[in-house]
Amino acid sequence: MLVYGKQLREEMKERIKQQATQLPMKLAIVKIGNDKASQSYVNGLIKFGKEVGIPVVTICLDGQVTQVEAQQAIMELNQDPDITGIMIQKPLPEHINDNRLMQTVDYNKDVEGLHYYNLGKLLAKDPGVCPSTPKAIMTMLRANEVDLTGKKVTIVGRSTIVGSPLAVMMTAENATVTLCHTRTRNLEMETRAADIVVAAVGKPWFINADMVSEGCIIMDAGINVDESGSIRGDVHPEAAARAKIASAVPGGIGMITVAELFDNMVILGSQQAGAQLK
Ligand code: NDP
Repeated sequence: MLVYGKQLREEMKERIKQQATQLPMKLAIVKIGNDKASQSYVNGLIKFGKEVGIPVVTICLDGQVTQVEAQQAIMELNQDPDITGIMIQKPLPEHINDNRLMQTVDYNKDVEGLHYYNLGKLLAKDPGVCPSTPKAIMTMLRANEVDLTGKKVTIVGRSTIVGSPLAVMMTAENATVTLCHTRTRNLEMETRAADIVVAAVGKPWFINADMVSEGCIIMDAGINVDESGSIRGDVHPEAAARAKIASAVPGGIGMITVAELFDNMVILGSQQAGAQLK
């Protein structure tokens, strides 16, 4: 059965909208260069922000900006009392060290949950902001009443924004997690043995039907755009058809990710105000 994220997104939107009435918040997106796909993602964030009443400002820096100038722009946002959260839009030009830029963000304004301080808190199971895509996967599983306790999970992809933090979150919920990558010896064996397979690879239809067991659960984080502009997940439809529950692409995890970013805004807003929003 394919599961979608639209309704969850709408429910989260309503909650965040309520919370935003209790506390003024503003999101700043730092964008470097002119990547078109990235602009359409930013437009989606601006639209969501309007719908929930959280203004979004975009700081567009020239593609030739230096590392120091980009970090300077972040430091100004750190100092700006009107800005609650700062997001750095990817991709960044090659000459920019994205990790160093990310670590320039004040961890109190780190809406992406990628500052070492917040990643450390995640490891220590101390509540706070976490990366949005793994959060969205956890939300999708919870909404479909999937109890992770004792489950064998295989995650394909170990990036800092998806696979690795998700492994930590799932382990904290008592799953036994295998984190796979390009050097994994027998990937098919790992995915077939799993109760839950998560694909965060970035390769269209990479997980095929032979790689999953009948009746498993599949979460597909993949968003791959082909030449014709259509979106494909990392999981082949024939693999999804074998699953008891499989997240759709498009319309699955990606639908929830934006809402999770704004959920992080609420967490930052309440932390900064020393308040607990209802
Ligand atoms: P990265 O490119 O950063 O990471 C890809 C991971 O997949 C790496 O760990 C890599 O291994 C692994 N991998 C690649 N090829 C293979 C292979 N042949 N066998 C095993 N492992 C492999 O991607 P991201 O984590 O940023 O994104 C993953 C996917 O999720 C993409 O499709 C992206 O578009 C999507 N995404 C979706 C979001 C959403 O909102 N739904 C948000 C962010 C991303 P290694 O480490 O060894 O290189």
